[in-house]
Amino acid sequence: MAALRRVGFDYIFDTNFSADLTIMEEGSEFLARLQAGELQKWPMFTSCCPGWVRFMKSQYPDMVDQLSSAKSPQAMFGAVTKTWFAERSGIDPKKIFSISIMPCVSKKHECDIPNLNDSGYRDVDVVLTTREVDRILRAEHINAAALPEEPFDSPLGAGTGAAVIFGATGGVMEAALRSAYYLVTGSNPDPDHFKAVRGYDGAWREAEFELAGAKLRVAVASGLANTRKLIEAIRAGKVKYDFVEIMACPGGCGGGGGQPICDGFELAQERDEKLYALDRENPLRFSHENPTVITLYEEYLGKPMSHKAHDLLHTDHHGWHLPCEEK
Ligand code: SF4
Repeated sequence: MAALRRVGFDYIFDTNFSADLTIMEEGSEFLARLQAGELQKWPMFTSCCPGWVRFMKSQYPDMVDQLSSAKSPQAMFGAVTKTWFAERSGIDPKKIFSISIMPCVSKKHECDIPNLNDSGYRDVDVVLTTREVDRILRAEHINAAALPEEPFDSPLGAGTGAAVIFGATGGVMEAALRSAYYLVTGSNPDPDHFKAVRGYDGAWREAEFELAGAKLRVAVASGLANTRKLIEAIRAGKVKYDFVEIMACPGGCGGGGGQPICDGFELAQERDEKLYALDRENPLRFSHENPTVITLYEEYLGKPMSHKAHDLLHTDHHGWHLPCEEK
């Protein structure tokens, strides 16, 4: 934070806030679709990775409706910044220039998708990768390691451990199951109850859990070669799941295409381990306990999947076209 303040940013927030918000929307949507019997043939897929969404749209267009309609944390963040945050802070949203710092190259494309702009403005103005930010700091002769730790700005700087693990393969699934369990039973599970979805072995990992007496079958894959194997197995009826997490980059965002490169080393697993350690250290480990997310629903959105939440935080994956489909 200290380094970014020296670069000149006025407010520095945490995408973990909107990762928690994504879980509230995506977890609620999953339960609603499960209870409505919509996942009998094919599972619901996570939608927070734009590389994966694009893969699904181009390779398996007949399965696009199985994607969650929840936007990614980046896209939710942009929409909330230029609406709720602007209103409660008395800032003209026209004057906000929102810069997203991501481990991801495909998030650059995502912020250009017209139907992901719902605030009335361009929700996210520019996306910088973590590699690009590293270059900016070097160019400005800022040594982040030598600066004191500073907190995020309020109110969009609050995040839970569940949000932190979004960056690891299996993390979105685990975070979603933690809150889905709470939404169904009214009490929190052990935060590590769903850790069977963690790991790197095989083309994909699968696990079965019990939720209020019902069996829940889930699967997690990262890397598009693994993803194709999993989708082909689902389509052939060889495996059956209710909820599937896909991340386009091997190892998830820890191995994201925009991350700093260390020649000869693959750092995804090492980064993921750090994320799990941060989750364990966080006093809040459930997205539904994020205090800013709670306030946002109380003051502005009402509840997950409300009309307003749908307008701002969900999207129609058929509402934009791949370059090859455009005339
Ligand atoms: S897995 Fe890769 S493409 Fe997907 S959101 Fe993460 S960094 Fe971006």
